Amino acid sequence: MIPSAFDYVRASSVDEAIQLLGKHGEDAKLLAGGMSLIPMMKLRFAAPQTLIDIRKIPALRGITVSGDRVTIGALTNHAAIAADAGLRKAAPALWEAANVLGDPQVRNLGTIGGSLSHADPAADYPAVMLALEAEFTVAGPNGERQVAAADFFTGMFETSLSEREMLTSVAFNAAPASAYVKFHHPASHYAVVGAAAALALADGKIGSARVALTGLYETAFRAPGVEHALIGVRANDAGAVEKATAGAGGEGEARSDTFASGKYRRAMAAVFAARAVARAATR
Ligand SMILES: Cc1cc2nc3c(=O)[nH]c(=O)nc-3n(C[C@H](O)[C@H](O)[C@H](O)COP(=O)(O)OP(=O)(O)OC[C@H]3O[C@@H](n4cnc5c(N)ncnc54)[C@H](O)[C@@H]3O)c2cc1C
Repeated sequence: MIPSAFDYVRASSVDEAIQLLGKHGEDAKLLAGGMSLIPMMKLRFAAPQTLIDIRKIPALRGITVSGDRVTIGALTNHAAIAADAGLRKAAPALWEAANVLGDPQVRNLGTIGGSLSHADPAADYPAVMLALEAEFTVAGPNGERQVAAADFFTGMFETSLSEREMLTSVAFNAAPASAYVKFHHPASHYAVVGAAAALALADGKIGSARVALTGLYETAFRAPGVEHALIGVRANDAGAVEKATAGAGGEGEARSDTFASGKYRRAMAAVFAARAVARAATR
């Protein structure tokens, strides 16, 4: 299908992008990798009057691992995340998510900022960001503000970004004992269910755990009951880990579609949460 007619402008800095968002108002959309926006426009689910291309803002690209802190620019593409050796050590959960996301074309064009801002309920990164307790830097007309990942995702395709703001980077503390595993849709590779785990281990036991899931409800979510149940569990005790993660799918009515029922998604959430914890514990 052919999108509605639109104007195209290119921003060469974050300030210029914010000015352009202010000028064009709610009828404008930022263009990053275009991997979600362009299909939405072709299907006419989105019909922005102006596209503000942010792809030529070099300051928004790059991965920095500095001591214990990892910072990733919003325009960094999935392929760069999937190939980064420092990130693989510092936060294997994110590295793994990038490696199993979409296909090579999507990984080369799509960006972490675009994925998080799009907030697809089946996207991989939101669960990882919650498990890493990431902090997002958002730029707007009044300067920058920090938003915790837990406060960023407000609904299906909805975030706490206002129409005049953009995501510029994400940052989190290194989590070497972390993992992301997913049951992917065979056609799109989106998560039917995805689970991220970040552990602190002491003497073979789980001292603390952060576990988050995606694909089940309108947004990714943390599983505090599971996190609590994992404390003190011997990491190599598969039976105990499975018992602790049994409730990972939550109590709500999970999303159903032609591929998987909500009941099935909830059952798979327990399986994949256990796998994520087991894998994180090996690191
Ligand atoms: C075939 C296919 C398979 C895919 N499989 C997966 C998968 O397995 N897992 C997965 O998680 N995703 C998957 N995706 C989505 C992919 O990850 C996209 O890259 C991502 O959703 C959007 O990133 P983008 O950079 O292309 O953003 P765009 O498509 O350019 O933008 C998406 C939205 O975010 C806004 N936006 C972009 N950047 C910013 C910013 N910095 N600040 C504020 N708003 C911004 C745009 O205005 C737009 O509304 C798939 C996509 C396709 C086409």
